[in-house]
Amino acid sequence: MDGEIRTVGIVGAGQMGGGIAHVAALAGFAVTLYDVTQERAEAGLAKIGANMDRQIASQKISEAEKAEALSRITAVSDPAAFSGLDLVIEAATEDETVKRKIYREICPLLDEKTILATNTSSISITRLAAATDRPERFMGIHFMNPVPVMKLVELVRGIATGDETFEAARTFVTKLDKTVTVSEDFPAFIVNRILLPMINEAIYTLYEGVGSVESIDTAMKLGANHPMGPLQLADFIGLDTCLSIMQVLHDGLADSKYRPCPLLVKYVEAGWLGRKAGRGFYDYRGETPVPTR
Ligand code: NAD
Repeated sequence: MDGEIRTVGIVGAGQMGGGIAHVAALAGFAVTLYDVTQERAEAGLAKIGANMDRQIASQKISEAEKAEALSRITAVSDPAAFSGLDLVIEAATEDETVKRKIYREICPLLDEKTILATNTSSISITRLAAATDRPERFMGIHFMNPVPVMKLVELVRGIATGDETFEAARTFVTKLDKTVTVSEDFPAFIVNRILLPMINEAIYTLYEGVGSVESIDTAMKLGANHPMGPLQLADFIGLDTCLSIMQVLHDGLADSKYRPCPLLVKYVEAGWLGRKAGRGFYDYRGETPVPTR
């Protein structure tokens, strides 16, 4: 590698991994999309195809661009396919133990020069870097959900991240037609440090009976001009992800103002994880979402 990124591996073919593969393939990068089973990796690829169909319907891309982009993505369940790639972005479940296990498994398979990045929403980049064999070539590249729609990417350096790594990541993200903001490595970075306490407060508002799901979301949409209500947004992000970000803020900043709402904990314990599970603050199993409270 001459410092320029041409080939990209992605760990996790879920909402975010799929979204990153989607935009990278459309921008002309060769993408290797990896998940724990071939079935999950293929399901991620199928979802990308379906999301591209929506972009065709709204005339953002053509059939030919879709076909070309899909042909650049290889779905795999063997991380050995990461050998020789310029950049690998880990977008697996927001759980530090899971991420550490992945780094232990994949680092020996990567080239010495390969840059390893994480899409974590909240976990310390410096601490994750220390669990790899390449802290100078490790950093945070934090995409927003849904990746094909959202313009922002937060770049986060760990204490050891090298300038070359940072610049290669900046160039890569710019080629995806995204705008970069740079955040220091503190819990949840910039966007989620501000957004998640608001969502958590909306859940407290529901928990304390101040308003129903519908009143809270309508209040923030029409009263604060937010495009989506906070509970709708929580379902969209995934309630497990929301809870884990609040836990990271609570543990990392040791301030009780970040205490996760017990109702959020209860929804996660019930497996009501939001849109991806078919149920969260809304029930998505019918034609239109119905509030669950
Ligand atoms: P998700 O649950 O949709 O997908 C996670 C994927 O990781 C699943 O397909 C799972 O099978 C896979 N996975 C788990 N363990 C694995 C392993 N050992 N090896 C390979 N794959 C493995 O979650 P998501 O919403 O896509 O979140 C992924 C990451 O992106 C998290 O770090 C999250 O914090 C971050 N993120 C999420 C959002 C959001 O709005 N959901 C936004 C920005 C960043």
